[in-house]
Amino acid sequence: MAETKYIFVTGGVSSSLGKGIIAASLAKLLQARGYKTTIQKLDPYINVDPGTLNPYEHGECYVTEDGAETDLDLGHYERFLNVNTSQANNVTTGRIYQSVIEKERRGEFLGKTVQVIPHITNEIKERVQLLGKNHEYDIVITEIGGTVGDIESLPYIEAVRQLKWELGDDNALVIHLTLVPFLSAAGELKTKPTQHSVKTLMESGLRADILVCRTEHELSDDIRRKLALFCNVKQEAVIQSIDASTIYDVPNMMLQEGLDTVTLKKLNLPDDTTPNLTQWNEFLKRHKNPKHEVTIGLIGKYVELQDSYKSILEAFIHAGAANEVKVKVESIHSEFINQSTIQNKISHLDGILVAPGFGERGVEGKIDAVRFAREHKLPFLGICLGMQMAVIEFARNVLQLKKANSTEMDPNTPHPVIDLMKEQKEITHLGGTMRLGSWECTVKDDSTAKEVYGTNQIFERHRHRYEYNNQYTTQMESHGLKSTGVNPKTNLVEIVEIEDHPWFVGVQYHPEYKSTVANPHPLFIAFIKAAKEYSQKKNNASLAQ
Ligand code: GLN
Repeated sequence: MAETKYIFVTGGVSSSLGKGIIAASLAKLLQARGYKTTIQKLDPYINVDPGTLNPYEHGECYVTEDGAETDLDLGHYERFLNVNTSQANNVTTGRIYQSVIEKERRGEFLGKTVQVIPHITNEIKERVQLLGKNHEYDIVITEIGGTVGDIESLPYIEAVRQLKWELGDDNALVIHLTLVPFLSAAGELKTKPTQHSVKTLMESGLRADILVCRTEHELSDDIRRKLALFCNVKQEAVIQSIDASTIYDVPNMMLQEGLDTVTLKKLNLPDDTTPNLTQWNEFLKRHKNPKHEVTIGLIGKYVELQDSYKSILEAFIHAGAANEVKVKVESIHSEFINQSTIQNKISHLDGILVAPGFGERGVEGKIDAVRFAREHKLPFLGICLGMQMAVIEFARNVLQLKKANSTEMDPNTPHPVIDLMKEQKEITHLGGTMRLGSWECTVKDDSTAKEVYGTNQIFERHRHRYEYNNQYTTQMESHGLKSTGVNPKTNLVEIVEIEDHPWFVGVQYHPEYKSTVANPHPLFIAFIKAAKEYSQKKNNASLAQ
């Protein structure tokens, strides 16, 4: 293939229409036809990356192999495509300005006045084309965050306009995602918001080549014709995106609507293959036809917003399909767990996952939940802060170090079983300075982890500052909390397990980031399997009564 082709996805009318899922679905279809495809997200906010954002703002922060803290849409890209993304796949306004200002300080602009146009727009164009360099990809899909008409997205829209002009119509196209609302009083779908949104795009000199219309009802031929005529696109380029019961249905829905065909045609690329979605459809079949059901408690403090734990929820879906089990997730707010509520909140569950997190709020409830799982032999998976809570619980209630804590929660604890490493103690800037990205871990023999992974060497992604304090290892191990995975270079503990328990695993890393449709994560698969066995035992016991 000669030139890399660029697809830009913009959004209109409203936010939260699912640009990320549409971009990922199109990428999936192109990949399934043999095109090497990657996706990039441009975020118009001024944070340099989402690492310093509270999950209530934009949901979970997704971490890549190379340790970039990124937007959660990159998680969708990896889950759909099973291809790693990197820092280059997520760019924010903050990062663009930081880099332009650094260049200015180095004197690279040779005395020129530094301006939004051309300096900021050039930097955006460079970041977009960076992925197309080296011809590693046939197609780069760039999703522009926000909604057209927002002041902060203007430089991005202008950069796309320039790129489209420079690259030519065969090499770049714009997909505009809009909403076609249904007015129940009139009993009608309305096209006007879409017309206005396309007009706003035109005011910035950008024409939409394809319209993807989110709708709750089927678009009739009449509506499609109207949208095509007034928005200046061919009728075949009006694509309906009706509400789906699962995001994993969207690639097939887009296939049916011909989004891939019209895209290839516009980019002048051969359309002589059919997408191979065999593995994808196999997953969907298993996902939709479960033979069992388990209920898992997801214990965290950001549970009001589902997006805060996006990758964990998706990893459950992948692992459920692998086990042919429907995983019902009950989100439980850790702030409301205490000795008097715990029975009510947890005893009916088939397993609990104690979630990652930062800060003091809600940690005591997490510790109570861990204790319940340990004492009642309920399957337990602790992730990052969840693992740290398992260590604290064990120290307090088994080793009887009653004031044991993490120095994150109590800097003066007499038993800092979770503590900062020396390098972390010297850090003053919070952005991008945690232990991030992929790190090696040596898995010990005769452990659940070894059984799960089937190998002694694994690589998993991290995002934390605090660590298991190795001064307590001997004491913990002799009482039954085993360290079954360690970093071979630093000796930091990455996995803990309780020996005398059917399934109790805490991991300092984030397995959820690596779970994809094609590669469900082995830890999640094993956890759901353990929950299934637990629920079957429970059912057999109640039948026997
Ligand atoms: N707050 C903990 C730390 O910084 C855990 C972080 C997390 O759960 N991602 O170590």
